[in-house]
Amino acid sequence: MENWSAKTKLVHAGAKRSQYGELSEALYLTQGFLYESAEQAEARFIESGEDEFIYARYGNPTVRMFEERISVLEGAEDAFATASGMAAVNGALMALLGAGDHMVAARALFGSCLFIVEDILPRFGVEVTLVDGTDLDAWRAAVRPDTKVVFLESISNPTLEVIDIKNVSKIAHDVGAVVVVDNVFATPVFQQSFDLGADVVIYSATKHIDGQGRCLGGVVLGSREFIKGPLQTYLKHTGAAMSPFNAWVMVKGLETIVLRCEAQATTSEFLVTELEGHARLNRVAYPFANSHPQQALAKAQMTRGGTVISLDIKGGKDAAFKFLNALQIVRISNNLGDAKSLVTHPATTTHQRLSDNQRGSLGISDGLVRISVGLEDQHDLLADIRGALSA
Ligand SMILES: *Cc1c(COP(=O)(O)O)cnc(C)c1O
Repeated sequence: MENWSAKTKLVHAGAKRSQYGELSEALYLTQGFLYESAEQAEARFIESGEDEFIYARYGNPTVRMFEERISVLEGAEDAFATASGMAAVNGALMALLGAGDHMVAARALFGSCLFIVEDILPRFGVEVTLVDGTDLDAWRAAVRPDTKVVFLESISNPTLEVIDIKNVSKIAHDVGAVVVVDNVFATPVFQQSFDLGADVVIYSATKHIDGQGRCLGGVVLGSREFIKGPLQTYLKHTGAAMSPFNAWVMVKGLETIVLRCEAQATTSEFLVTELEGHARLNRVAYPFANSHPQQALAKAQMTRGGTVISLDIKGGKDAAFKFLNALQIVRISNNLGDAKSLVTHPATTTHQRLSDNQRGSLGISDGLVRISVGLEDQHDLLADIRGALSA
């Protein structure tokens, strides 16, 4: 299997077949496991082998299939799957940080990630410094000898800013900090964050990994030492395990993730090309667009520009709401990475909690809308968006 490409591995890796030799991966809907003897139970509690399970909060064969398959795609030594993306973010940060530690994070974070970083961690004695993630000097000025974790999302939501992971990792590693990257927007297909210097990579599997809007899930990837050590210890005792059913959906999702993301990126590029310069738009944001101020950096660290585009509509909130309400194919929802194209107005939904000042500093204007590009026909989508813009 070593020589196979990611596409091939995603169809086959991690499969654990029962004695029936089933073709499709089995759903092991079980909480517990039986032991042949008291001695075997004792031995397994001391140390479980590869395919030996104790309790579904610690691990389950279907969940393990998902962990192994995503590890192969990411080139990680190991992974631990969680009930949601937020359980993965919380688990990774809680496993790495303690009272008295310092952490630096990019300011442009997914709403719930920002809540953990700004509100929860400080309650437990973690000091947090937020920086403009695109400014390397700001990272340099923020790290200290007691900085334990550097946390970022690239590309960011919803303005699609790019953070230089390679150089931020160098700055972090110089002070011995662990680099944690939430890679949802870049997708595991288009960005290999470990190659860029990340130590821990996190996904909300709810997004492109499921890809059809069915289940919540998350995963933390990293070295075997970290995953089987502090991360698994924290998560198995605090209970945010992924359900076997959700893991089964995610395993099947990984079989098609490359095809879906490639198709969604192709449609995104098409829409960006067609919409740039539209009279009703201030701006079309997409990391690979010629107009993106960080296009060169985006192209250096990603193979494609992703599956999300943002449009800054002239006329603020009123115009943005008219646009959302006039769309017929693209539906209003805050999910992303889905087969269905989805649109959201960040200022009044995902980023409503922020002050006007905070939104301003993140570049989230009242006219900004984020579109997660789905699998529909690209000409249908263009006609829908153009029609709604003229409304
Ligand atoms: C959705 C998302 C999360 C949270 O994932 P859930 O599965 O909803 O808990 C975290 N980070 C980013 C960047 C996301 O898009």
